[in-house]
Amino acid sequence: MARRPDAGAPALVLKPGREKSLLRRHPWVFSGAIGRLAGKPEAGSTVAVRSADGAFLAWAAYSPISQIRARVWSWDEQALIDDAFLRARVAAAIARRARLAGATDAVRLVHAEADGLPGVVCDRYADVVVFQFASAGADHWREPIVDAVLEATGCVVAYERSDLDVRGLEGLPPRSGPIRGALAEPTVTITERGVRYRVDVAHGQKTGFYLDQRANRDRVRTLAAGRDVLDCFCYTGGFTLSAFAGGAHSALSIDSSAAALELARENARLNGLGKAEWLEVDVFAALRKLRDEGRAFDLIVLDPPKFAPTAAHAQRAARAYKDINLLALKLLRPAGLLATFSCSGGVSPELFQKIVAGAAADAGADVRVVERRQADDDHPVTLAFPEGEYLKGLVLEKR
Ligand code: SAH
Repeated sequence: MARRPDAGAPALVLKPGREKSLLRRHPWVFSGAIGRLAGKPEAGSTVAVRSADGAFLAWAAYSPISQIRARVWSWDEQALIDDAFLRARVAAAIARRARLAGATDAVRLVHAEADGLPGVVCDRYADVVVFQFASAGADHWREPIVDAVLEATGCVVAYERSDLDVRGLEGLPPRSGPIRGALAEPTVTITERGVRYRVDVAHGQKTGFYLDQRANRDRVRTLAAGRDVLDCFCYTGGFTLSAFAGGAHSALSIDSSAAALELARENARLNGLGKAEWLEVDVFAALRKLRDEGRAFDLIVLDPPKFAPTAAHAQRAARAYKDINLLALKLLRPAGLLATFSCSGGVSPELFQKIVAGAAADAGADVRVVERRQADDDHPVTLAFPEGEYLKGLVLEKR
């Protein structure tokens, strides 16, 4: 038999009993689980992960500095981690998004661990693909991954937004800018269910747009007819424009970012939809002011930034979530709807519901759960990697 190119690959040998999470196919190897390192792997290169008795567990990308010392590529001992392997993973991820093809030209094509490509995020905006490489392993395979995505999509422009804090934990500097081709314009225009948005892929938040909220924008659209809408943390107007597309009567939309609101106004003009009022202020202060002015709304969206990136921040985050949800419930007319979200990894759906229930109790509101919401399908969550579930939401009715 021919010798495998990775024969004699360096190995991470775990401490006794520390293979349990890997046997459940959780894709991370924490530094504390490692007994010894055999060989001298470079950052991002492939290592075998073995249990203390030497049994093969997985092939993984080595990250010498990170607490997450390795991220699994494959559980199959026969698998060879090479360009062809990555191309197949990319193709499978893109194939999973086929359902969204007619509805939008802006889709997350690769969602990291949940698509078997740890640390790799890839968002398509029309004919531009934006990449984030968050880990040493992802960074190591950057070129073949970019080529695979461009090959599978037929896109020619690739742009990088690896300006992520977490790269520091991996010993990687931030990096952004063009990878292949060049942006034809400073913003890319996308069309989601007939609504057009300009996306600033070079400077916008995340990779430019909150693709994860697509299904929830659709939902708000179906609920908005005839309603006076308050869109809090509106960014470039996603929920606002969706509400107008669904026949909203009016919208007041609030964000603290001037750049986001500039694009939001442009997006409203682009679609000729309704007359939104855009307010560049702090939502916490604005909600109090609206309450004091006796204002009322029929549909309120609360889509705040990540208050609790990890469980360690949960308590402070809980106060912030409770505060805005309490104020929003007070501003709702009877039979009004509240679509409230949390994208904090450190706050579980159960905890989020508990916080909002506390807010309702303090507001003296009788509230029905209309439905529970999550990120759209192009942000999959797998059973083996529950950490991937960050976005949760509730649609509530004030009775
Ligand atoms: N709903 C948006 C995404 C919201 S992201 C969409 O679907 O596209 C969170 C937004 O909150 C960001 O645009 C950020 O600028 C804004 N933000 C953060 N803190 C804020 C605060 N205290 N007051 C107002 N806006 C805030």
